[in-house]
Amino acid sequence: MSKLIISTIGSHSALQILYGAKQEGFNTKVYCVKGKENLYKRYPVAQEIVTLDSYEDMLTQEPAINEIFIPHGTLIATLGKRALDIQIPVFGNKEGMHWEMVRDKNHQLLQEANIRTPKSYSSDKIDGLTIVKFPGAKGGSGYFLCSSQSEYEQQIAELLSAGSISEDDAKTAQIQEYITGVTMYPHYFHSIIHGRVEMLGIDRRYETNVDALGRLSQNNFKINPSYKVVGNQPLIARESLVPELLDFGDRLIEAAAKLFPPGLLGPFCIELAITPEEIVAFEFTSRIVAGTTLYVNGSPYSRFLFDEDMSMARRICREIKQAMGQRRLKELLT
Ligand code: ADP
Repeated sequence: MSKLIISTIGSHSALQILYGAKQEGFNTKVYCVKGKENLYKRYPVAQEIVTLDSYEDMLTQEPAINEIFIPHGTLIATLGKRALDIQIPVFGNKEGMHWEMVRDKNHQLLQEANIRTPKSYSSDKIDGLTIVKFPGAKGGSGYFLCSSQSEYEQQIAELLSAGSISEDDAKTAQIQEYITGVTMYPHYFHSIIHGRVEMLGIDRRYETNVDALGRLSQNNFKINPSYKVVGNQPLIARESLVPELLDFGDRLIEAAAKLFPPGLLGPFCIELAITPEEIVAFEFTSRIVAGTTLYVNGSPYSRFLFDEDMSMARRICREIKQAMGQRRLKELLT
């Protein structure tokens, strides 16, 4: 049997994925949209670089023999629901990506897992600080904060007249309770080979301009926050919080198995905000998150579990290897 090839798209967490695959002894391949190849030439983690004209070309790529594709955020952000039509066998359950993409489904899964999500409002019921989101706003650009119906209407009118949003966007805007908490993104791995959910690390995102606003005194300027991620910072949780984080992961896996069997396989993440009173989830992610790249050498949590350098990508490849050994690889792919 020829060696297995682990492939992914060149962006997001590709450096980690390809390096983790190499560590586990697999061949590696990266699909790059024209102009993005250079990064993967400068960091030699891919044995093969395939150049694409556009992300759509991923849909017509024929799999090589023994190729497994590791999906990440770029696949979902660029192809949306069409990501499910990719022909290369994908690690994990593609159905999970569908539940991740559709905001209502995303919240439905969290609620099924008994994890609190922010409340939603209609504009005439706003009674506190809310965050207004538009569909498809990547990185929360164009989101705004408001705390009354009149403020809401004024801001919508301004965005419409500036051409920043369409009438359709205005109609489908989602008004959400603003959670004043610190963010925490635990990285989980659901292993069907070991029959357990592992928490391998935690990060927080470094977002512009929202992470810059604390440097200004509050009332001087009216600046709408944006949440464009520019990087990630490592975090460990207060130890007494860890049991709850583990429990969230277990419950999400149980809920997913109920709503779309077999549910989520492999890496996933829950985007949390922690207030002095409670823990609230903005959304879940059904695949590897970019913050895991912090832990190519392992995180404190992955060290406790494995006592070796276990990144999320390496964990994925380890699962593949063990599944092959038990002739169970098919269970991990869709
Ligand atoms: P994306 O899908 O691009 O990640 P999100 O809707 O998850 O966009 O939001 C981006 C960021 O906005 C989050 O990481 C978080 O910092 C902030 N955010 C989202 N929803 C809320 C909320 N209800 N309260 C406070 N902050 C929020």
